Amino acid sequence: MASIWDKPVQYVKGVGPQRARLLARLGIATVGDLLYHIPRRYEDRSLYRPLKSYPDGEQAAAEGEVIAVQETRARSGIRVLRAALRNQWGIFYAVWFNQPYLKRVLRVGSRLTVTGKVRHGFGAAEIHVTEFETGEGEEGLNTGRIVPIYPLTEKLSQRVLRAIVFGTLQNETAALPEILPPQVLQKYGLPGRRRALAAVHFPESMAEAEAGRRRLVLEELFLLQVALFHRRRRITAAEKQYRCGPDGPKVRALKEGLPFVLTPAQERAWQEISRDMEKPRPMHRLLQGDVGSGKTVVAALALAKAAENGLQGALMAPTEILAEQHYLNLRALLEPVGVRVALLTGGLKKEERLQRLRAVGEGDLEVVVGTHALIQEEVEFQRLGVAIIDEQHRFGVRQREFLRAKGNHPDVLVMTATPIPRTLALTLYGDLDLTVIDTLPPGRQPVKTAWLKPAELGRVYRFVRTEVSAGRQAYFVCPLVQESEQLSAQAAVKLAEELAQVFPGLSIGVLHGRLKLEEKERVMADFRNNRVQILVATTVIEVGVDVPNASVMVIFDADRFGLAQLHQLRGRVGRGRHSAYCILIAGRTTPEAAARLKALTTLGDGFALAEEDLRLRGPGEFFGTRQSGLPELKVADLLRDHKILEVARREAELFLEQDSGFTSQVAQHIKEEIGKRFHELSAYVV
Ligand code: ADP
Ligand code: MG
Repeated sequence: MASIWDKPVQYVKGVGPQRARLLARLGIATVGDLLYHIPRRYEDRSLYRPLKSYPDGEQAAAEGEVIAVQETRARSGIRVLRAALRNQWGIFYAVWFNQPYLKRVLRVGSRLTVTGKVRHGFGAAEIHVTEFETGEGEEGLNTGRIVPIYPLTEKLSQRVLRAIVFGTLQNETAALPEILPPQVLQKYGLPGRRRALAAVHFPESMAEAEAGRRRLVLEELFLLQVALFHRRRRITAAEKQYRCGPDGPKVRALKEGLPFVLTPAQERAWQEISRDMEKPRPMHRLLQGDVGSGKTVVAALALAKAAENGLQGALMAPTEILAEQHYLNLRALLEPVGVRVALLTGGLKKEERLQRLRAVGEGDLEVVVGTHALIQEEVEFQRLGVAIIDEQHRFGVRQREFLRAKGNHPDVLVMTATPIPRTLALTLYGDLDLTVIDTLPPGRQPVKTAWLKPAELGRVYRFVRTEVSAGRQAYFVCPLVQESEQLSAQAAVKLAEELAQVFPGLSIGVLHGRLKLEEKERVMADFRNNRVQILVATTVIEVGVDVPNASVMVIFDADRFGLAQLHQLRGRVGRGRHSAYCILIAGRTTPEAAARLKALTTLGDGFALAEEDLRLRGPGEFFGTRQSGLPELKVADLLRDHKILEVARREAELFLEQDSGFTSQVAQHIKEEIGKRFHELSAYVV
């Protein structure tokens, strides 16, 4: 049987091209999408009560025999259709507005069930009908039972969707393969796949609906974890070509030459990484640490270790500005210990680029820092020992894979400053070992954060002036204009001109995505050397930029940024010995944006903010599903289902221990299902 994930929903009974288009708006393209379009909630319309037991205005359900139908026209012109119905408790009225055509449907003597708001007036109770059923020729899907309420789109009604889903359950699920191992179903007392789907859409009881949902959640998370674990097994089962020895002179010299001592958390992280590099199997590790926790120096140690073993290292960063800054930092750290570092970005001139590529290919350059340019085809390393990805959340799984493929099973270290809640980390990075740097370097003070109105800008400017007089520097961030780097570049230039009026005598720099590499370099260098006191920038400075003397971050239209992004931007200050400030400028805004800004003014810790962000927005929006590589989850809610996630992980591990070759029948089905349901991950299980 063809997979439900291949069959277009258009060919389902009752759908057709027009409804298929409506369904597409809900993300439903296939029969599988339809079956896994889970109700948002349920309404219990199974038990009828006398209408007088409902308070005025409440949702109620009732049924009765039609004894009279009458149409009137209100003074406002609205046409009112009123049916008198009788049941065991007496008479009530069902009322419709502006639906005269219903007159034909409501035959005297027929039975009718209705739902809607109860209105108590002088006489018998009324129901202002939102849904009804005539009890003839219908399946009884909409009343007289627990009824699913789906996420909808315009022009598609609950009634229609229910009928389509019901038909699909009948016609398309008979041969649906089971994709949870039988022992898992048994251990947790879960229903089979077909029963679970039926129970989730048309439950007999709320308990049944919940049991069905739990099964589908486990199923989804189980598949995901199987894919992730399988990938980890495959990667770490390989024998690596180059293996490092114990820390030698370069690593020691680098450590000793640092202007600071590593924090215990950094030291711990380095020990784990160093040990991984000495093992026969490739490292595949995530280094997580809040903004400013000092991940770069740990990466530098790994690069030095590779170099002292005669190997090359690569460090990939998401923006040119960050790549370039890493290049400068790493050069300062590594060249004194005899390691050559090069920069490779898209902005290089052709000859320069070719020359560097040649040097990398011949192994003359030990460390290459770059942007996506690193994973392009013509880049070839001679002996790639360690591949590092900074700000991993800005890359997808694929790019990680491309960089890894530049070597023969190299060690891989991915770093992220966006602290993410554990549930999300397990889902996104379940194939990686985890190291956390959980403390900041000593002496860091929390960045004082305030939310001010545009009317208070005068105060902000005075404050910035005081800070600059004291020798500090400031960032002003203007919002990224959606979809257009050019417009946001213009906005930055304009803001810089305005600020030049506000701060006569100060030197103001502008940084945006449209500048040429050399221009960016010049601006950043000027800012680093304090030749520029105020840096106006778009969000290009969001990640990584490190100028410890900068103490103020002003963000315009802060309500237009996401929480994670604001936290990253704020992380640009508070990196030195000085008190640091983040000023969020936003006027009246939506409740959600206000909640974000509030959270930022009260929470300093990235992990707390991440939990808050997940709560406010849900995982799908957490940092943009596509760019974060988070697979689309249709059923599971990572906030609510974290316990099931733990179960899924345990069971996925057990399953792979027993059948890592996917030989059993159910394993075959599991493998196929992963390929169909998680496109990003399908490459993991082939
Ligand atoms: P992130 O983890 O955000 O990438 P960085 O690696 O950019 O952080 O480090 C932030 C700043 O902290 C840098 O200026 C770095 O030199 C400094 N730093 C790193 N480790 C320490 C330490 N152990 N003690 C003091 N300063 C440190
Ligand atoms: Mg960093």
